[in-house]
Amino acid sequence: MKNFSYLRAHSADEARRAAALAGNMVLAGGTTLLDLAKCGIAEPDTVVDITHLAGLDGIEVDETQASIGALARMSAVADHPAVQKGFPAVAESLALAASAQIRNMATIGGNLLQRTRCSYFRDAAVFPACNKRHPGSGCSALGGVTRNHAVLGTSDACIAGYPGDLAVALVAFDAIVHLGERQVAVDDFFRLPGNTPDREHAFERGEIITAVTIPASAAARRSTYIKVRDRQSYEFAAASAAVGLELEADGTTVRDIRIALGGVATKPWRARTVEAALIGKVLEPELVRKASLLVMEGAIDHGANHYKIDLAPRVITRAVLKMGGLA
Ligand code: FAD
Ligand code: SF4
Repeated sequence: MKNFSYLRAHSADEARRAAALAGNMVLAGGTTLLDLAKCGIAEPDTVVDITHLAGLDGIEVDETQASIGALARMSAVADHPAVQKGFPAVAESLALAASAQIRNMATIGGNLLQRTRCSYFRDAAVFPACNKRHPGSGCSALGGVTRNHAVLGTSDACIAGYPGDLAVALVAFDAIVHLGERQVAVDDFFRLPGNTPDREHAFERGEIITAVTIPASAAARRSTYIKVRDRQSYEFAAASAAVGLELEADGTTVRDIRIALGGVATKPWRARTVEAALIGKVLEPELVRKASLLVMEGAIDHGANHYKIDLAPRVITRAVLKMGGLA
């Protein structure tokens, strides 16, 4: 690991100025950054520690929204009673992520900026070709072991999956990422790889995430996050779904539904075609099963990750039926 200097920022402006300098990187909980530094992917000259900035760790929930400071710890948000009540999918996505130790350390801002678990990306010594690390160098995963790679949103340049859980729930409920004064819809915050897989976020050098807001809604109140993985703890999603449901007064017709997928795409993936196929319809299992398949239109597998094309619609179906009281 390359030696680096340490700077403790005393204000958000000082953090922005320092983070704007080439070679400097923001440090929050450090659970991603130090990992990447140890494997030589992140090579900061200086880490700019923002963990002591005042006012960025609040969690406020009212009837219009949840406002979560970028420095709030994952565990604090997962355990917050008002988040659990108004946004169960958000609380569950955090509770099912990583380990208790990591959740106690890691922050909401850092969680959004975690990087892919593509093992070729993380092993620069053995696999020099990686367009995400070195644009134009190629992609070692193509023709390699692809079991954990994406089937949606891929490009010829990169098929790496987005690994996080929280962002999936945030995309389902149209959350906003606050970068100081500037605000970006969370769905736009995450970029598709296209020809520039090294550019993962709508985020400029020197910006810091200050908060995330999530609009309150009936669908967010009646929501869940289901995560399927190789083992039941301390594992990233093979496929996951955040689903929120609002029914008409008849108790069976869908008024509003939000569906987003994790573990299968290059960014948190909103399943709008599935939502459109269910809105206005009476919720029943066969309809949900058929509608869920629509999310995989255009999916491209690379052999070992083909199972995700079958798995993801089943995860959506399970979550929708659970919310509809049909499972
Ligand atoms: P840091 O490591 O401090 O920072 C991460 C990145 O974000 C860095 O590039 C840093 O410069 C930047 N950054 C941080 N905060 C800001 C900010 N406010 N503004 C601008 N830039 C910022 N996550 C899941 O969702 N699900 C899982 O199942 C899961 N399993 C994991 C298992 C392991 C073994 C590990 C190590 C991690 C796992 N994670 C998982 C990822 C974990 O959630 C992230 O490492 C964590 O959320 C990152 O938060 P942090 O505060 O530690 O970020
Ligand atoms: Fe790099 Fe993306 Fe290829 Fe992985 S899939 S090796 S991150 S270019």
